[in-house]
Amino acid sequence: MRCLYDGGLRHKCGVFGIYNHNEPARLTYLGLYALQHRGQESAGMVTSNGRRLHLAKGMGQVADVFDPMILSRLKGKSAIGHDRYSTAGESGLINCQPLLIDSYWGQIALAHNGNLVNALSLRSELVRQGSAFITTSDTEVILHLIVRSSRKSFHDALVEALLKIRGAFSLLLMTVDEMIAIRDPYGFRPLVLGKLRNSRVIASETCALDLIGAKFIREIQPGEILIINKDGLQSIFPFPEREHAQCIFELIYFARPDSVIFGESVNLYRNCLGRRLARESHVDADIVVPVPDSGVSAALGYASESKIPFDFGLIRNHYVGRTFIEPKQAIRDLGVKVKLNPVRGLIRGKKVVLVDDSIVRATTSRKIVAMIRRAGAKEVHMRISSPPIISPCFYGIDTPTKEELIASSHSVNEIRQFIRADSLNYLSLEGILSCVKNGEKRFCTACFTEKYPIDFPYERFPQLQLFEKQK
Ligand code: AMP
Repeated sequence: MRCLYDGGLRHKCGVFGIYNHNEPARLTYLGLYALQHRGQESAGMVTSNGRRLHLAKGMGQVADVFDPMILSRLKGKSAIGHDRYSTAGESGLINCQPLLIDSYWGQIALAHNGNLVNALSLRSELVRQGSAFITTSDTEVILHLIVRSSRKSFHDALVEALLKIRGAFSLLLMTVDEMIAIRDPYGFRPLVLGKLRNSRVIASETCALDLIGAKFIREIQPGEILIINKDGLQSIFPFPEREHAQCIFELIYFARPDSVIFGESVNLYRNCLGRRLARESHVDADIVVPVPDSGVSAALGYASESKIPFDFGLIRNHYVGRTFIEPKQAIRDLGVKVKLNPVRGLIRGKKVVLVDDSIVRATTSRKIVAMIRRAGAKEVHMRISSPPIISPCFYGIDTPTKEELIASSHSVNEIRQFIRADSLNYLSLEGILSCVKNGEKRFCTACFTEKYPIDFPYERFPQLQLFEKQK
């Protein structure tokens, strides 16, 4: 889900659903809790009791939005839910998902992970035809396309709508008697199927299945529509075949390390990146320190390959939330200090290899290098377990505009100077692909290569115009 008018891409969401269970709301609460890393701005859930859909949603994290009273009102046998990453603000609550409408086909609830690249043009067309929109999100376009279809059955109307949208979409849809999971033909975002006794479960990542004790069955295939109802499971594949373009950044940074997505253990993949990084850019050093939490798995791989001892030289405060109040008088680098603090005894006098998964704007990395130096490090060698990010993502990862991505306009040496490290090395593109089978054929690497699997309409998006000007 992406907000069409906010001028920025801000979309990293999680979806979860369960069909045929006595406590669907409570299990969906847990599922969304396990997927909290995919979005912390708002959460929502819709349950079905077979006759009506019930909705609850709100701004904040899962535990802020739902309490036992709200969950007990969400009655039924099935539920779908959504964790959303977006900005707060006036339109915040209205854009919360799942979206719920009443239509010719009855009530329909929809939760979306991904970005549509043709949402704005579809929306203008729909508005010209008389559609009135309530949200500013791209997801609502899908609902309008479904209800405006003249097809004779709901499933046909759904397929017709889905054939019109382009971009990244892992969707969970619910009517009073069905739950439907959909993955776009490129497979940008993950989506998995699980089983808990007689219940079927759908989730963005397997870590959500683990929490509720569900068994992982398989991934929803790119291009698959999986319909789950009282007759069982039925798959249809209506989309033209596409070369798969699963998001490699999900594996590098975004997904939880205990998940298995795209057939890969996220933790093992990151460990492999770290090993490869150590082979590609070894440096003589005393200690390998991860930037927690995103750099931990790669740093462990780096340490075991390089035989340099690993330790937690930076400690993260896990309780930093939006309620944090900064003192009026500015304290230097407070932002990063709130989150990270060095263990001076480990760092003092040492040559430190600092490992992180990526550099985006480089502002955090610069502060962390300074922090390690102030803690007494003799040398700081930054190692990044992915290639330089040179291009924004239009398919659902929250990256800034091209202009703000430091590697789009600076060489590695210039970035090294900016972050004031003694050395800086990124992992190569071959490196990130070498840790998966058939990497070139299965993954989208557009943020590192500018090779976008789907074109997008430059003229429609302000940030894309900027992108084009710089090309
Ligand atoms: P910076 O040094 O300011 O570029 O920040 C780098 C840090 O941002 C790394 O620790 C990354 O794990 C993290 N990061 C990478 N991609 C994203 C993203 N899409 N949203 C938030 N943080 C990110």
